[in-house]
Parts: sequence; C-alpha cells; structure tokens
Amino acid sequence: MNIGLFGGSFDPIHRGHIALAQAAASRFSLRQVLFVPANLPPHKQNQPLSPFIHRYAMIALATQDEKGFLPSLLEAPEFALAPAPADALVRPSRRRAPSPNYSIDTVRRLLQTLRKSDRLFFLIGIDAFRDIAKWRDARALLALCDFVVASRPGFSLRQVAESLPEDLRPAPAVTRPFHKHPAKGDLLLPGVTLHLLEGVNQTVSATAIRTAAAQSKPLGHWLDPRVADYVRKHGLYRSK
Ligand code: ATP
Repeated sequence: MNIGLFGGSFDPIHRGHIALAQAAASRFSLRQVLFVPANLPPHKQNQPLSPFIHRYAMIALATQDEKGFLPSLLEAPEFALAPAPADALVRPSRRRAPSPNYSIDTVRRLLQTLRKSDRLFFLIGIDAFRDIAKWRDARALLALCDFVVASRPGFSLRQVAESLPEDLRPAPAVTRPFHKHPAKGDLLLPGVTLHLLEGVNQTVSATAIRTAAAQSKPLGHWLDPRVADYVRKHGLYRSK
C-alpha cells in the first residue's frame, strides 16, 4: 500500500495543503495521507504557534470528506498521548520542555508500524524542500522514503537538485543546463528518489491567513468553511 506523510505546522491547514495532498494521492495512488502537525517545528521554535490541539482539530475538520486523509498524532506532545496521573490536579506539573519534532524520528517511528510491502511518500512543498540540507539527518531521511515535492511556477529543476545535501547533489556540470527547465518529472539519484509534482498552484499561506484573521477579514476563500468557523469560534489569530 502506498502511504503519504505530510508534515507541517498547519496553523491553520488551508486549501494549498489539501490541493497538494490531493494531487499526490492521485498521482501515486496513495491509500492514506497522514497529516502530521508538529508540536514544535524545529525551524519555528521562536515563533508563536497555536496550541497543538487546535491545529489537530482543524486538520480533522478539513480532511473529513477526503477518503484516506487522516490527522495524525505522530508528533503530538506527551500530554496528548499519555494518560494523566491520578494526582495530576493536586501535584504541580513537572513537564519537561518539549523537544522539537525532527522528521527523521517521525519517519522511523512510522516505518516501524508499516508492512514491508508498504511504500512511504514524504510530501513537501518546494519552498520547504529548499532547506532540506539543513534538516537533521537529511541524507538518512532521503534514503528512507520517496519524496514528493510540490513545485511552483518559477522554480527550476536545477534549484531542486541544488537543494540536496552536498554529497548527494549532482555535479554542477550536470545541473547547470537545467536552470531553465521547470521543476517537473522525477529525479533518481543514488540515495534519493524525488518526484516533482506540478499543478499545485494555490498561492495561499498560513501566514497570510493569520494576518487576515487578525484584521477580521473573511477567510472562506482559503479555508474549508468548517475550519473558518473553528477559527472564528475559538478566536484564533486575533490580535491581542
Ligand atoms: P506558514 O505561512 O505559517 O509558514 P505554510 O502555509 O507554509 O505556513 P506549513 O504548515 O508551514 O504551511 O507547511 C506545510 C507544508 O505545506 C510545507 O511542505 C509547505 O511547503 C507546504 N505548503 C504550504 N503552503 C502551500 C501551498 N500554497 N501550496 C503547496 N504547498 C504548500
């Protein structure tokens, strides 16, 4: 069975995320797509983030009508998974500071639960992929699953190849001619399988949505109506 793993902060989940997952599911016959909100994304440790539980709930709402799309607790904080001790209300909590969620750990944990015949596809937007070389154990991660990179107009195949960790990158002489080639097709290199996914052209970002929400602007254009309703009801992203 082909399975997609789609990680992010999803603060909030929007139509761009769903469009990417739909395109990947259709091209690679994914029977499941796991949407994995990070409790603490490594690259956003100094940014304010809505509580995990809100981001998880919004994913559950946005994926309700999509067969095989599932919210995942793979990167949930400890308290969301472990039962609270009986004396939790009287004993002050000594919770440890959360550690960032690294994709290599998440993928390894997920692979332990899959069958040998399952094939894992890691879904990612091209803007996030540009930083892949800085990710923890990037080489090991790239070797563990196929990568599906949603391309955007204006990105070239050369930029994609040059985003790889240095020792996996093709030689400059090989990539130079590709600077005008749009990022599409498959890139099969030793230790890396990259599939470039075209046609996901939703120019929406969670940042723009949070800004619009803070200005009480309508959000329906970018969000599933159930998510827009959730944002409103819980007063998420309101300026303080
Ligand atoms: P923010 O604006 O807060 O940084 P975001 O909209 O980029 O958020 P994330 O949750 O950080 O959303 O992204 C999760 C994944 O979704 C990343 O791989 C990112 O590249 C991808 N992604 C985000 N927006 C889009 C979009 N409009 N089209 C395709 N992929 C997207």
